[in-house]
Amino acid sequence: MKRLVILGAPGSGKGSQCKWITKDYDVPHISTGDILRKNIADGTALGVEAKSYMDKGELVPSELVIALLKARLDEEDCKAKGFLLDGFPRTVEQAESLDEYLKENGISLDRVVNIEVPDEEIMARALNRRTCSNPACKEIYNLRDNAPQVENVCDKCGSALFVRDDDNEATVSKRLEVYHTQTEPLIKYYSEQGKLSTVVGQVLLEDTIKLVKAELEK
Ligand SMILES: [Zn+2]
Repeated sequence: MKRLVILGAPGSGKGSQCKWITKDYDVPHISTGDILRKNIADGTALGVEAKSYMDKGELVPSELVIALLKARLDEEDCKAKGFLLDGFPRTVEQAESLDEYLKENGISLDRVVNIEVPDEEIMARALNRRTCSNPACKEIYNLRDNAPQVENVCDKCGSALFVRDDDNEATVSKRLEVYHTQTEPLIKYYSEQGKLSTVVGQVLLEDTIKLVKAELEK
C-alpha cells in the first residue's frame, strides 16, 4: 500500500515510471485526464459540468477537478491499495486541498517523486524524436540513442517516420516554461513537508527505475 504523487516535465519519462510503479506496487494509476474522460463518457453530474467548460474551450475549474479527484480516491481500489497521482496536484492550492482530504480520511502521502531532467536534455530528445506514421504501430525512435536501421523507415513495420507537430523547439520550450512556473512552488511545498524525492532521469530507463525504487523503499 502506497500513496504517491509523481511530478515530472512533459518529456521527462514520467509515463514510463508510472507504468512500473503501478505494476510493482499494485497501486491504481490516477491521472486527472483519465478521470475527466471517464466521467464525461459515463455522463456523471461532475462529468457533464466539466464538459460544459471544455465545449466552450475553457479550462475546467480547479474546484471541479478536485471534486472529481476526491470522488475517484473514495473508490474501493484506492482505499485498499493506495494510489499513484499523475498530473495532480498542479498548484499549491490543489496540494492543500489534497492534504485536507487526506487528513479528513486519516491518511497521508508516503512520497512525492520528482523526476528531474534538464531542459536541454528534454529539448534534445524532442528534436531527435521520430514517430512511425503507421497508426497501428506508432513506434518511437530517437536519432541520438535509438535510431532506426534505415533512415526514416520503421524497423518494425517498414512505414515512414515523421516528426510530430509538437516536437518543435517553440512548443517544447513553451511547455517547459509553463511546467516550471506551475511546479516550482509545489516542489517547495512538498520539500518542506519532507516528502519530496528528486530523482535525476538517466539516459537508460532501467537506471532511472533503480533510483526511483531506492527512494520508494526508504
Ligand atoms: Zn512502424
